Amino acid sequence: KIRVRYAPSPTGHLHIGNARTALFNYLFARHNKGTFVLRIEDTDTKRNIADGEKSQLDNLKWLGIDWDEGPDKPGKYGPYRQSERKDIYQPLIQELLDKGLAYESYMTEEELQAQREEQKANGEAPRYIYEYEGMTADQIKASQEEAKAKGLKPVIRIRLPHDKVYEWDDIVKGKVSFNSDTIGGDFVIQKRDGMPTYNFAVVVDDHLMNITHVLRGDDHVANTPKQLAVYDAFGWEAPVFGHMSLIINSETGKKLSKRDESVLQFIEQYRSLGYLPEAMFNFITLLGWSPVGESEIFSQKDFVKMFDPKRLSKSPAAFDGKKLEWINNQYVKSADSDEITDSSLKQLIKAGKIKADPDTLKIQWVRQLVNLYKRQMSYTGQLAEMAEIFFTEPPMLDEEAKAELADESATIVLEEFAKQAKQLPIFDAVSIQNMIRQIQKDTGVRGRKLYMPIRIATTREMHGPELAPSIELLGRQKVLEHLDKTLA
Ligand code: GLU
Repeated sequence: KIRVRYAPSPTGHLHIGNARTALFNYLFARHNKGTFVLRIEDTDTKRNIADGEKSQLDNLKWLGIDWDEGPDKPGKYGPYRQSERKDIYQPLIQELLDKGLAYESYMTEEELQAQREEQKANGEAPRYIYEYEGMTADQIKASQEEAKAKGLKPVIRIRLPHDKVYEWDDIVKGKVSFNSDTIGGDFVIQKRDGMPTYNFAVVVDDHLMNITHVLRGDDHVANTPKQLAVYDAFGWEAPVFGHMSLIINSETGKKLSKRDESVLQFIEQYRSLGYLPEAMFNFITLLGWSPVGESEIFSQKDFVKMFDPKRLSKSPAAFDGKKLEWINNQYVKSADSDEITDSSLKQLIKAGKIKADPDTLKIQWVRQLVNLYKRQMSYTGQLAEMAEIFFTEPPMLDEEAKAELADESATIVLEEFAKQAKQLPIFDAVSIQNMIRQIQKDTGVRGRKLYMPIRIATTREMHGPELAPSIELLGRQKVLEHLDKTLA
């Protein structure tokens, strides 16, 4: 039975790359009716941020990703936070020490740093060089006792075999192999503070939690041989690995780095702009994975049905913000009216365009406004600016618009419009449309010469959504004010 996991470190908010890892694991589990585990890797205590875990979980839920076991969903493999699993790691570290497969290392940070610098100066790759080289077991023991007596704290290092090949058949990359002599020397499995390192804890947890497949980012490829060394030391079988291609910025072609400010990279940021979770889910799934065929818009259910890790791409995934906008617009256009109205309300309140706790009339008004603009709107955060005419004093007309009104027929049309608009019993789109038809009959002016002056005078813009509903939504009072200003 398939068991996969997403294992965030609460060192930051949910990044688009991490969300992708979570999502592919989720799809893989759901497609195979397997189990999806969420595990918090919080052993790097210095780097954890206060609400890191909560924010990760919140944003995953927002995206529509749920898990079967996790810190908030106890299962039989818990606890699901590494910081709560120290009692599990301790005896296992001891086991390796007892078997001579790991040892205490007392080199200080300064000494290690000096070693690295010397290697760098010689043009060599930095690696740890065995500090007890040529010493007998007794001498090693004496040296360790002496360091301990001085009050030094050791790290525990694993003893790597010499010239051993670590190889695996990666779901995405195919065969990958490393020689044990090229991975930086005996690496640390327990830090000075007693916490296990990532490369150790991840193996213990994946093994004890019965994880069958590890799907994660390309940045972990170099960790995999180290993890295989830990599996070997215990005689455990390793899971199947798949390392997803990196994400690049489609504009620059460069690897997407968290410092790249030209693209928003945190789920939270899109959420606060009013992007829809279903659209984000859709977009992220297409980052390095593709369905059969040309279509790109799929529901979560469809993705679960289709998901096949064999279709994960080897080449880098291009992050294209324009495509995300396009996808979100597809969802905005077909969104449920309540969902999109609610999202728009939040955005308009945030932008200070309407007051908090709007009454039902106002909500209804926003619903109509959204209807008017949803074809053009990439995300609801754009509405306040797009629909600016509804929220501001009549804006000034530019030269082009003024030129449109220069014709004598324009004045005739607008005077007639003002007169009839004042008398219209019900100021709604249907009546307004009928009224415009009547004005055409009364004045003999038709087509562009009829519609353009009315559009400019009432909305104070040359372009916009459908005219009659726009006029209705502006409301009689505002429309008459705009007309007065235009005719003055
Ligand atoms: N905690 C690791 C990370 O955040 C997880 C890596 C893994 O999936 O093994 O990158």
